[in-house]
Amino acid sequence: MANQTMRGMRLGTQSLESEKGVAYSPRLNLVYRCGAGHDSAMVFSADAELPETWQCKSCNLQAVRIEDGQQIAIDIEEIKTPRSHWEMLLERRSREELEEILQERLAYIRARRAGGKSDN
Ligand SMILES: [Zn+2]
Repeated sequence: MANQTMRGMRLGTQSLESEKGVAYSPRLNLVYRCGAGHDSAMVFSADAELPETWQCKSCNLQAVRIEDGQQIAIDIEEIKTPRSHWEMLLERRSREELEEILQERLAYIRARRAGGKSDN
């Protein structure tokens, strides 16, 4: 009986005490290094998807995430040719969708011109 009480107390003193005051969500401090050797420190939420690359804060190069003191291995082509806005757009929308949007836009512009509301 006395033994059980002891165990209960031990668990009681351990529980949650060390977690009190940890109201903020965990953060990760990451470093991204670009081809020019600039280090960019970034802070991410621990449950966020961690980007492999980030735009350097000091120049316009793509910086690569540092892990264990080394740049992580990524597709090297991605560093050499930073994605254009067009490529990023294509990742979000299919080409068919874009074509549709383009046609809608063209029809709108043509309708405006036909109605004599063009800017010139
Ligand atoms: Zn840089």
